[in-house]
Amino acid sequence: MKIADAGKYVSILSLGVLVACATNPATGKRQLMLVSEGQEALMGKEADAQFHALYGDFSDRGVQAYVESVARPLAAVSERPDLPWTFRVIDDPQVNAFALPGGYIYVTRGILAHMNSEAELAGVLGHEIGHVTARHSASSQSKQLLGALGLGVGMILSPTLRQGGEALSSAFGLVFLKFGRDQESQADRLGLRYLVRKDYKPEEMLDVFRMLDGVTNAADGDRIPNWLSTHPAPPNRISDMTRIIAEQGSSGTRVGRAEFISKLDGLDFGPNPREGFFREQVFYHPDMAFKMTFPVEWATENEKQGVSSMPSAKDAIVQLTLAQGEPQAAATEFARQQGVQAGSVERGDVNGFPAASIEFEIQDEKNGPLQGMVTFVKHGGRTLQLLGYSTRTRYGAYRSTFTSWIRSYQRLTDPRILAAQPLRLKIETVRSATTIADLSRAWKSPVKVETLALINAVEINQTIPAGTLVKRVVGEIIQ
Ligand SMILES: [Zn+2]
Repeated sequence: MKIADAGKYVSILSLGVLVACATNPATGKRQLMLVSEGQEALMGKEADAQFHALYGDFSDRGVQAYVESVARPLAAVSERPDLPWTFRVIDDPQVNAFALPGGYIYVTRGILAHMNSEAELAGVLGHEIGHVTARHSASSQSKQLLGALGLGVGMILSPTLRQGGEALSSAFGLVFLKFGRDQESQADRLGLRYLVRKDYKPEEMLDVFRMLDGVTNAADGDRIPNWLSTHPAPPNRISDMTRIIAEQGSSGTRVGRAEFISKLDGLDFGPNPREGFFREQVFYHPDMAFKMTFPVEWATENEKQGVSSMPSAKDAIVQLTLAQGEPQAAATEFARQQGVQAGSVERGDVNGFPAASIEFEIQDEKNGPLQGMVTFVKHGGRTLQLLGYSTRTRYGAYRSTFTSWIRSYQRLTDPRILAAQPLRLKIETVRSATTIADLSRAWKSPVKVETLALINAVEINQTIPAGTLVKRVVGEIIQ
């Protein structure tokens, strides 16, 4: 959970759907596009504004400028050079890159930390540019809109409750568009085309696929990186690309290993504990100096927009987000929302923090009546919204769980946790031939040797020649 403007996020779904047939600029074929180019640009612009509100500008301006300097020439040689291309590095530890309709492309600091050359970065950017030039976002977004209008999401999330600044995962469904395998293959080919046009060594793209495989293998089961869950890898992706590269007979030679790696010095690595972290069911937030105990055995999720938790039955949810205004005013406004029936606002305090609470009921079209409670807590000049709700039939069973969760909100005083900092990359030059295993021991690395091998794209016992730039991870893990 990040301290950010608790402004309301514009719903992308309000844009509506139009059916149009258009020529695909990248393939030259006529295809059904459910959104026009104008709508596409508007969707991208609005979603980008939400993203920017949430993430802000990337703090390392040098890295942001470098990524743009690699991306812009690729876009310029694409089939849609005149789009208002926007490239952003976002402060997210996940290995991810994605495109929004209209030419908005994002790479996370997580994927940057896992790559080892400018040509690899160009490969990822080229692939995402390919999704935009082939208008995959437009056609997938169309499907997603239809899906959202027709089917439920299998989870209780009332539209009325969403307005309170929810914007948790599902609201970002737009971004994590699921492309099909054909679209992935096409984006791979287009990315390769742009790579070759800018004289990059095309084989470097294969290293990206190998890295992604490594990340998948290292992930513990359910923690598959987003880029992978939303980018289903075409079968035989590496062998297909190898064949295509051979057919094209590319002469590209640019790799840019040192240029790329040296830019990563000082980059945050892994989750940023300052934005909150869980230790078992206790959530600690150093930046906002509070902690909270979440219900036993409930699954928890800490996102930029807030923290949420659900039991395995998924018939209840608690959510912690930022809110606007004083607690009393925020509670009154919550109660005034359309479709909400609320009791009177109760003022009081939660462990010394001024608070205002209400219990409420909402008629939800999809799930029938929902019942819940919300408490607004004032802490350090900010107001937090602590919301718990369930179906009406289950509310009685969950009420005390919600109450205990709200009452667990308290000041964080542990100085060690308050001072927590993210791990960082440090770029070093190897003085004499060595291995990652030896370096890991010498460094007393805070991350596993397997992680160091993965981000440096070497085997654990592979010899690294003298003079090689390597990525080291420095800092201390306190969570
Ligand atoms: Zn893709």
